[in-house]
Amino acid sequence: MVKVNRVALIGTGFVGSSYAFALLNQGITEELVLIDLNEAKAEGDAMDLNHGLPFSPSRTKIWYGSYADCSQADVVVITAGASQKPGETRLDLVEKNTKIFKGIVEQIMASGFDGIFLVATNPVDILTYAVWKFSGLPKERVIGSGTILDTARFRFLLGEYFDVDTRNVHAYIIGEHGDTELPVWSHADIAGTKISEWSKNKRDYKPEDLDNIFVNVRDAAYHIIERKGATYYGIAMGLVRLTKAILQDENSVLTVSCYLDGEYGQKDIYIGVPAVVNHSGIRQVVELDLNDEEKQKFENSVNVLKRTMEPVFSKY
Ligand code: NAD
Repeated sequence: MVKVNRVALIGTGFVGSSYAFALLNQGITEELVLIDLNEAKAEGDAMDLNHGLPFSPSRTKIWYGSYADCSQADVVVITAGASQKPGETRLDLVEKNTKIFKGIVEQIMASGFDGIFLVATNPVDILTYAVWKFSGLPKERVIGSGTILDTARFRFLLGEYFDVDTRNVHAYIIGEHGDTELPVWSHADIAGTKISEWSKNKRDYKPEDLDNIFVNVRDAAYHIIERKGATYYGIAMGLVRLTKAILQDENSVLTVSCYLDGEYGQKDIYIGVPAVVNHSGIRQVVELDLNDEEKQKFENSVNVLKRTMEPVFSKY
């Protein structure tokens, strides 16, 4: 039998279905199986997506399936989970989703799955840690979407501000995907020229403009949720980018939630940092030479995550 790439998607809500649509449109995988607690939704999505096949760039076999279908999957993408209800704390949500994840991951592993996990459900750094712990897979094969979307937002806003194609902007947001994330200004450049140089040459430049750009990145999700209830297209495209880097063995540098084992002076934590991604998962974490202020902010981000995780994982 010819080996083809298979992606299994767990969770066909806003993020999951947008991911499936983008994956199909970019022709990244030969097989895509959709799994959701809401079976009718997953089945309806499979039907709907199949009707787009005559217009797609390549052949993709799409079906609504079960956890048994994960056995042959190269990548399992998890976007399933509960969202925050009014009156619920962040910790309540962490506890609830960790419990849901235990059930999901156990069923995936029972299928004989031996590929790579991609996690997007929030709080993504903590739930990626949960997948690593519950699956028993090597750390390289469990990846969270981390700050891939925040980094994309950052590059987009910097590109707009300096009026340069966002794809020529190289700048990273690292840390928790959340309120304690930070911009790495010390290594931000456009076409090999530091942002500080671009700023000097911009006529109406004000230092607070760059601070505002970061604040807009950090708070983007709140702004979008206020307007339309959820964010999904950006993260869906980020997850497709990651899937492509894995399936096509690209060695691409993407900011994802990785397990740190001494890198950045941190241990036993999943957090967003740039990493080289290929067919084996995380080939290597890229250690940026942070300045003192960035180091201190990154450490704070690690500590905030650890404090949230401790009461949850002490139960497992
Ligand atoms: P959604 O409510 O639309 O979808 C969640 C889906 O999960 C639903 O279809 C639901 O039926 C399914 N589900 C729930 N429990 C399940 C279980 N036990 N097994 C299988 N399926 C189950 O939510 P959404 O808007 O698609 O968001 C999904 C997640 O992605 C959220 O946690 C959200 O915060 C997160 N998100 C992450 C990023 C990021 O940058 N990492 C960006 C946007 C959203």
